[in-house]
Amino acid sequence: MPTLKEALGVGVITGDKVMLLFEAAKKHGFAIPAVNVTTSSSANAVLEAARDIGSPIIIQASNGGAAFFAGKSVNNKEPKEQAAIAGAVACALHVRQVAPFYGIPVVLHSDHCAKKLLPWFDGMLKADEEYFAKHGEPLFSSHMLDLSEETDPENIGTCKAYFEKMAPMKIFLEMEIGITGGEEDGVDNTHADQSKLYTQSPQIWAVYETLSKIAPNFSIAAAFGNVHGVYKPGNVKLHPGILAEHQDFVAKKLGVTADSKPCFFVFHGGSGSTEEEIATAVKAGVVKMNVDTDLQWAYWDGLRQFYKKNEGYLQGQIGNPDGEDKPNKKFYDPRVWLRKAEEAMAARVKKACEDLGNVGTLAKEV
Ligand SMILES: [Zn+2]
Repeated sequence: MPTLKEALGVGVITGDKVMLLFEAAKKHGFAIPAVNVTTSSSANAVLEAARDIGSPIIIQASNGGAAFFAGKSVNNKEPKEQAAIAGAVACALHVRQVAPFYGIPVVLHSDHCAKKLLPWFDGMLKADEEYFAKHGEPLFSSHMLDLSEETDPENIGTCKAYFEKMAPMKIFLEMEIGITGGEEDGVDNTHADQSKLYTQSPQIWAVYETLSKIAPNFSIAAAFGNVHGVYKPGNVKLHPGILAEHQDFVAKKLGVTADSKPCFFVFHGGSGSTEEEIATAVKAGVVKMNVDTDLQWAYWDGLRQFYKKNEGYLQGQIGNPDGEDKPNKKFYDPRVWLRKAEEAMAARVKKACEDLGNVGTLAKEV
């Protein structure tokens, strides 16, 4: 049996290779962190971390993160979502260009896309089609559609329609049913109906039954009390155990053994979860876990620590504790302080990989 490294190669992977990776994750009991990036700097920090520990990684851009990648000042309203489309494409091209130099496989993904953001999705899909026409594979490995705020029939129906367009290019689809609480990227679910925070097994089956008829490469972000952001312990009641119940429910419907775990699950809103909660989720078929909030803090904290340590050297271009005519260029050069942010973020990505059993996984057999 080849190793994952041999089977997947290096750089951005798409199509069957993405399936191979997620199947291996399910088989070996690990999950891959999906890290939100907003600049080439944060994307590079993620690649660096994955390279250092010999593991596959998922890089994703949210709608707001993608627009930021294009530049905060670019008009994103007319035409609708043009900055978010351009930024997502720029992020994808950047990662595609540099990832091979890090020697690891990378899944390139776009995060939550609610109904009102569908023009963003359409734009990325168009970029996928153009890339496919030239290179025989889509630009992105996978995309997320999040119609969880709509009714189930509308949610599943919209996913079906898009998945049919994505299937010929073998783009992986992540969909959400049940909702993640809290607030992220301008979508505020802080006061959501409590029952919607826990997806029911028949809902999972409805998704599985519909999408599996089109293609096997999809995952479900099921809600089990997840909340975006970090909250005081005790404020969030996570029940990852219900994911195992969903697997059993779907397996029974399919007439396959209970331990066959037919679904790929995605863990959203996992910042601040306990090791036990994460382990339960991974055991139940979570192959991807989104990590954003903790990494935002890490990036900032790297810079914060640098500033605190070198405060006297960062008050003007000339003059520091060593002398009033001493230059400070080697402290305020962005390559110095941004690097500190990157180092701290890379260290936190490694920690996320450790938590999910994704260390040295490229050496594992397919
Ligand atoms: Zn999320």
